[in-house]
Amino acid sequence: MTLGCSKNIFDSEVLMAQLRANDYDVKHEEANSDAAIVVINTCGFIDNAKEESINTILQYAEAKANGLVDKVYVTGCLSERYRDELEADIPEVDGYFGTRELPRLLKTLKADYKKELVGERLLTTPSHYAYFKIAEGCDRPCSFCAIPLMRGKHLSTPMEDLVSQAKSLAAQGVKELMLIAQDLTYYGLDLYKERKLAELVTKLSEVEGIEWIRLHYAFPTGFPMEVLDVMVDKPNVCNYLDMPLQHASTRMLKAMRRGTTREKTTELIRQIRERVPGIAIRTTLICGYPGETEEDFQEMCDWVAEMRFDRLGCFEYSHEEQTHAFNFEDDVPAEVKKQRTEAIMEIQSQISLEMNEAKVGKEYKVLFDRYEGGFAVGRTEFDSPDVDNEVLVKITDEQHIRLGDYAMVRIDSADHYDLHGTLLS
Ligand code: SF4
Repeated sequence: MTLGCSKNIFDSEVLMAQLRANDYDVKHEEANSDAAIVVINTCGFIDNAKEESINTILQYAEAKANGLVDKVYVTGCLSERYRDELEADIPEVDGYFGTRELPRLLKTLKADYKKELVGERLLTTPSHYAYFKIAEGCDRPCSFCAIPLMRGKHLSTPMEDLVSQAKSLAAQGVKELMLIAQDLTYYGLDLYKERKLAELVTKLSEVEGIEWIRLHYAFPTGFPMEVLDVMVDKPNVCNYLDMPLQHASTRMLKAMRRGTTREKTTELIRQIRERVPGIAIRTTLICGYPGETEEDFQEMCDWVAEMRFDRLGCFEYSHEEQTHAFNFEDDVPAEVKKQRTEAIMEIQSQISLEMNEAKVGKEYKVLFDRYEGGFAVGRTEFDSPDVDNEVLVKITDEQHIRLGDYAMVRIDSADHYDLHGTLLS
């Protein structure tokens, strides 16, 4: 079972490849599974995620008590952060493991840790795309964030290992790589004493069979602009950038210890759009941070309307113990956090509709991920799986669409977050 983010998906896939290599019959999130052993890869990021992880652990602890499973093991961020509390509160679990304890978990499962398999994965995503973790941990001081507590310091994966992982994935039929880390733009600073993201993306773009490379979790401060040149030069590097910005008010950005200001962020976005015309920028914002005033919030609303991000997610602030922000009073009422988050998403949904309507009549290369309700559902290069817009093409006898294939689609109609189109090729 995997809960939480794409980095957890990556870790589960690595664990599954190791188990399979030890002749385990491994399944991922299979409903009504008859598995004797269950491993839950948890998330400990914010309240909602923690609650979901605890409920999942309790569900399998009960299944064990009812004799439906023999062993239950828990790993991942929640276990890393609250191991002592979990061991005391849910002793039915056979073992708790941290985020960097794969060898010990395997040993407990009587499986050998096979070094030669490092980076090898059993994909849980559709076979044509894969999350591609290039580093672990984070050195940033963002005041609200508990991730460094669970994932440790930034650790870049050596470039040669990443290139061989990409070759192995391409050989398995993977066409799209979603590059992920806690802070993608920090890549190389630990290992090579300089930012190496541009060089890494260039090398990955030369791997035969990889048709789309997508960049997630970029950090604004010290953004390596040379990455944009690679995006312009290499047709298989998507004109897409995910850059969580968290807030617009300089007062809030300072309180959040983001190391930037509204003016610098606005200028950075302007330069990125100038260097890569038509780039789709995704961002993430937080509402209700301690001390956030109605003025700060209004400033963020005006900024979201002005900046017109292509994709945007907004979250309610979660008061996380052991973070710097936990020292401050969580003074924005839950109801106000909710109202502000909804208001930001209301502004964004209108922007998204206008941007989608502007795509009607145009043609796009689409990668098809699944069939649903008589439609083949895919994405353009401007859309990442599970978080962004989708393109729906009605399946007819005349036109057969194979999942994992690219095809040209003319957009016929649009709504807030989806496009409807006709297959051209
Ligand atoms: S960069 Fe991201 S993961 Fe790192 S501390 Fe900031 S918010 Fe957390």
